[in-house]
Amino acid sequence: MSESFWLESASGPFEVVIGLEVHAQVMSESKLFSSAPTSFAADPNSKVSLVDAAMPGMLPVINKKCIEQAVKTGFGINGKINKISAFDRKNYFYADLPQGYQISQFYHPIVGEGHLNVELKGDQLKKVRIERIHLEQDAGKSIHDLQPGKTCIDLNRSGTALMEIVTFPDMRTPEEAMAFMKKLRLILRYLGTSDGNMDEGSLRADVNISIHKPGTPFGPRAEIKNVNSIRFIGQAIEYEAQRQLEVLESGGTLKQETRLFDAGKGITRPMRSKEDAVDYRYFPDPDLLPVVLTDDFINNTKAGLPELPDQKKDRLMKDYGLTSYEATILVDDVEVARFYEATMAKVKKKEQTTAKLAFNWLSGDLFGFLNKENKTIHESPISPESLAELITLIETDVISGRIAKDVFVEMTTTQKTPGTIVDEKGLKQITNTKELDQIIENVLTNNQQMVRDYNSGKDKLFGFFVGQVMKDTGGKANPATVNQLLKEKLSKI
Ligand code: ADP
Ligand code: MG
Repeated sequence: MSESFWLESASGPFEVVIGLEVHAQVMSESKLFSSAPTSFAADPNSKVSLVDAAMPGMLPVINKKCIEQAVKTGFGINGKINKISAFDRKNYFYADLPQGYQISQFYHPIVGEGHLNVELKGDQLKKVRIERIHLEQDAGKSIHDLQPGKTCIDLNRSGTALMEIVTFPDMRTPEEAMAFMKKLRLILRYLGTSDGNMDEGSLRADVNISIHKPGTPFGPRAEIKNVNSIRFIGQAIEYEAQRQLEVLESGGTLKQETRLFDAGKGITRPMRSKEDAVDYRYFPDPDLLPVVLTDDFINNTKAGLPELPDQKKDRLMKDYGLTSYEATILVDDVEVARFYEATMAKVKKKEQTTAKLAFNWLSGDLFGFLNKENKTIHESPISPESLAELITLIETDVISGRIAKDVFVEMTTTQKTPGTIVDEKGLKQITNTKELDQIIENVLTNNQQMVRDYNSGKDKLFGFFVGQVMKDTGGKANPATVNQLLKEKLSKI
């Protein structure tokens, strides 16, 4: 059975159809049409201009930075940049919307069709088409639980710029929707156009879900509003698809509706029947001119784009010989990729084995340590320079990989450089064959019965001798040299 038909029923499989409307708060100093700051983690109603409070006679003025951020995001999703876009009024009443309408882009969005390639399990790629990105104002906040019997309004968020990124109904499983959201968030963060922090509400998704029998038209969709974590998106889809199936199986019919996800219970609940565009009486905002982008503006914005995740992944694979899996781990956090490249810039040798070694130390030992300590890569007590030095010490045979593990632990606690630790503790590898010769002689003389057993065919005892030598040298012997010397000596006995 194809993975996209994961919903089973007595009458055969159903296909689940998913489309996302993602709201991303635009990173900018000030709001979309006013100069009030966007830092709304401030005292309630302290970041509100007369425009945001919709005082009579106030006129909106477009913030160029927000336009630039939307255009950048457009490039990030391989979208068509529309040279002409315009703002419309979406009319509805709500206490946290003092204007009585939201300024949005309905008829002429700033970005047209695009797509993202999303990685799924087993290196599979799924193309998810994007219908549009438009800019719009956010509303204020209604707070219902501050004063009994009253609702408080905080307008700090009122007028903040949002990008609404709308996909086509191209996704078929919870995994695809979650992977899409992860990829989109990563791109927004690389671009610096939205911080993508879902738990703070600066990135949230309306999740549209319907089910149908393959080969028949799509079913009516339920739109689950404002889902604010990737895990919740997966849970909401699983629950909602199952719920719709149960409605159909018990002889009911489905209708288009808006629902809420209750994260505590893991269920969706009805909110209202869905409005149609016509209910909002959209019309062009007479206070605002159309936005006309010049070729220069578009070209300069394009030229200023940073390296994006897909490009970075390809380059890391090519430059360092990393596998797709390894490169993905680095690219998934731009700071981790930066740390890796800063390390590689400082190592002495630059061979493929060096690149792997650096990857293994970063993704194994350093990640392990940071996880245990609940730290981010920013808070790493080990700098890329120190990690590079450690790798160079291993690769130039100054210390063994075994000893390097101890040095690493010491680095995390003392913040000394690996070179200093090796010097202070006398951890340099013994490569001096004379010194090793003596130690090996002693081991063989002290274990004569074992030597006889070895020579009569008990090959496995070789490991025992190596272990003894390592023990007597405090782990500092070069394993390759020990192997070689031992073989020579044993063959002569
Ligand atoms: P509206 O603007 O009224 O919410 P749209 O047609 O723009 O409606 O669609 C909104 C979202 O719903 C899009 O992300 C789209 O992919 C998704 N969608 C549309 N039809 C379906 C469907 N039958 N099942 C699931 N998602 C759908
Ligand atoms: Mg919608």
